[in-house]
Amino acid sequence: MDAALKSLSYPTADGNLPEGVRDLNGMRNDNAPTLVPAPVSAAPVSAAPLPVRPVEVAPQPPSAQRVPDEIALGRPSREEAEAAVRTLLRWAGDDPTREGLIDTPARVVKAYDQLFGGYRQDADALLERVFEEVEGYSDVVLVRDIPFYSHCEHHMVPFMGLAHIAYYPTKGVVGLSKLARVVDTFARRLQTQETMTAQIADVIESILKPRGVAVMVEAEHLCMAMRGVQKAGVSTITTQFKGVFKADPNEQVRFLTLVRNKG
Ligand SMILES: [Zn+2]
Repeated sequence: MDAALKSLSYPTADGNLPEGVRDLNGMRNDNAPTLVPAPVSAAPVSAAPLPVRPVEVAPQPPSAQRVPDEIALGRPSREEAEAAVRTLLRWAGDDPTREGLIDTPARVVKAYDQLFGGYRQDADALLERVFEEVEGYSDVVLVRDIPFYSHCEHHMVPFMGLAHIAYYPTKGVVGLSKLARVVDTFARRLQTQETMTAQIADVIESILKPRGVAVMVEAEHLCMAMRGVQKAGVSTITTQFKGVFKADPNEQVRFLTLVRNKG
């Protein structure tokens, strides 16, 4: 492999990946079936053994989605939001006035501020602000195993997993943690995995202007595990390639190999 290659894993504060985020197996309980590893191949869209479901993402509109004015201006009050939670508690069949649930609506509304904080963040600005020149480095930069937690826009149920990002810098290299924050920005909205994958690639392409960008997201969707087909341990993989990664299948192989070679 290329000696100049910069391959990085997203670190925690102590420099190590937290227990259980190394791979998706660590994210499930011990009773869950073993994850079937994704195939490393030039054609991630080709038929793969179930339960892995590779999806090549269709092009998406630009990623700089901000909260539309009519939504921002018409935002309900905290009291209204808490009342809505009480309605859902009654809908579920419980009594919002019982002791254990009295403070739940307030907690849920507060949690939403964090879980959906991405609506108030601008991924473009994030990358623009922290741009750092790194003279002379033009080979691939790979940041892998970025853990994320999101919610599916269909059921508002969590899906979570790992994002891997590679790009060929032209103007310089952004700080490691900034790519992780870009992932967080999009993850903390109601999402589909396909859209999120495309948004991450779009914003990196439009702000950093790299020669190419590759994004892979692998995730488990609790709405599949907990409801509907009730299949636990299914990993969904989405990829988005731009620039040289799109034009050259060898670059896709290199990316997929680097993501899987967890030395
Ligand atoms: Zn869902």
